[in-house]
Amino acid sequence: MRNTYLIWIPSLQRNIRFNELTNEQYRIILKNVDDDTHLDFLYNLNTIIECNMVESFDYKKFTILDRFVIVLFFKILSYNSLLDLVKECEKCEKEVRIRIDLNTLLDNLGLTIDKSFKTVIAVDNYPLQIICDIPTIEQEYENLLYHQNNNLSNDTTDKNIEKYLFGYIRYIISDSVVIDVDKLSIPEKTTILEKIPISLILNIRDIFAEPLYALFNQIVFLDLNCKECGTKFEIKMGSDNMIYLLKMFFKDNTLDGLLSDYFNITSISHMDSSFLDKITPKETQMLVNFAKSTYKKSEKSEVPSNSIDLFADADKSPSEFAGF
Ligand SMILES: [Zn+2]
Repeated sequence: MRNTYLIWIPSLQRNIRFNELTNEQYRIILKNVDDDTHLDFLYNLNTIIECNMVESFDYKKFTILDRFVIVLFFKILSYNSLLDLVKECEKCEKEVRIRIDLNTLLDNLGLTIDKSFKTVIAVDNYPLQIICDIPTIEQEYENLLYHQNNNLSNDTTDKNIEKYLFGYIRYIISDSVVIDVDKLSIPEKTTILEKIPISLILNIRDIFAEPLYALFNQIVFLDLNCKECGTKFEIKMGSDNMIYLLKMFFKDNTLDGLLSDYFNITSISHMDSSFLDKITPKETQMLVNFAKSTYKKSEKSEVPSNSIDLFADADKSPSEFAGF
């Protein structure tokens, strides 16, 4: 049985229990971080979230912010909290090494995003209520897929403010009829959206979407200066940036770390790789460290203390030997 953890879900304002990530799942994520369409990356990531949930909950209803928090915890709990990144400075073109501790980020994030963003939007004298929330991971995937299938650029929706807004509309309530917008196709959503009065659309933008957008843009993930020339590096959370940040959690040096751990542990022992698939990256690291320290101890104990070290002078330069 794998270890499980409670993870706090902002949109639900309660904990949900998850299994930690296995090496196999971690490798699946790593294989997909370079996917430019994001579709394979998100499909696999969302499926892993579903597989790792201990209790039953419709994982498609997690908001993209919930997933952000879940994945952040996956990374910290299953591997480690450190991100080692290498960035090329745009000004001096030197490589800069950056280390981020995700635990400190978690504390900062908690203050800003730990709440339900669900909001009811209405206008006077109009019998329609709109429930807005942060897009679900289902909406996000459907939207990206629609763009891919129709050969549209991913930022097309952002240029059309009305289309961009429908990502935030979760339910439309008219009298006693409740329409679950998540269940509609994108052409159906567009048709419905065209029938919503402009005053209501403007309220969605002014009361819900723009403050949310401003809030995300406030959250600075990385705020550093280049050690060589002082140029400022800044990465903000933004709503467009969220997928890139998720990829960044895995795209640090963990790829090399995990693969070399795999190689080391299988080359020094006859350990079955299917066993390695089931344990976590953190446990693999522990095995490797244990193996390394045991190997060092056995190496030391083979050398008798009174033996002569033939190589003790080997690092001296020829001129030092010359006086002999
Ligand atoms: Zn620089």
